[in-house]
Amino acid sequence: MGYRSIAIDGPSGAGKSTLAKRLAQELGFLYVDTGAIYRTVGLAARRRGIDPSDAPAVGQMLPNLSIAMGYGEDGLQQMLLDGEDVTQAIRENEISRWASKVAALPVVRDFLLGMQRHAAQEHNVIMDGRDIGTVVLPQADLKIFLTAEAGARAERRCRELLERGQQADFEQVLREVVERDRRDMERETSPLRQADDAVVADTTGLNLEESFALLLEIIQNRLGDGEGRHE
Ligand code: C5P
Repeated sequence: MGYRSIAIDGPSGAGKSTLAKRLAQELGFLYVDTGAIYRTVGLAARRRGIDPSDAPAVGQMLPNLSIAMGYGEDGLQQMLLDGEDVTQAIRENEISRWASKVAALPVVRDFLLGMQRHAAQEHNVIMDGRDIGTVVLPQADLKIFLTAEAGARAERRCRELLERGQQADFEQVLREVVERDRRDMERETSPLRQADDAVVADTTGLNLEESFALLLEIIQNRLGDGEGRHE
């Protein structure tokens, strides 16, 4: 029997990870945050002083890295870089930019593809990212394109940063969000794009509870009530 997979793609700040994490809990699926994997490569480049847009230099670095994904007792995904737990370190605002730069390199995407597909071969998964429905899991049982207007996404991002005790200036965060989306959408390899067979969910003006209810309804309509659910 095959495993079920749900792909959630969309621009940064649409609520993918928060919602996917909760949905995974609700359904008893494994949550795979692929952005965290790109962030780990971005962090590695930064620590080594490597230009994240320099394909040959980043390509040389990759075979020397040990990147692993693990799950804590709480069921949440952890990232290990050369044995060190970098789950928190990759969340620094600065790393978002490094991640989206290394993510534009085909050598990086190829390197990480197997790791992502492997997770879906061994578990029921909800996987979020930019190219899950289009490239990583084109056969996913359900593809959701989760989006919201840029202003709404920047607002959420500011709130998130403040909650983590980091600084947040709305205008700057909005510029960063727009810039990162542009880079993710305009890159040649695996750009952020809605899969033809994706269901679009727009969360502009919806709070977390409303967004969660919307996605759960989409999933239950498609996969059937109770499928894979743990009580
Ligand atoms: O989702 P998150 O914001 O953590 O992702 C960080 C960056 O990693 C994104 O801006 C994007 O450039 C890249 N990414 C990607 N493909 C994915 C997931 C993330 O290119 N599947």
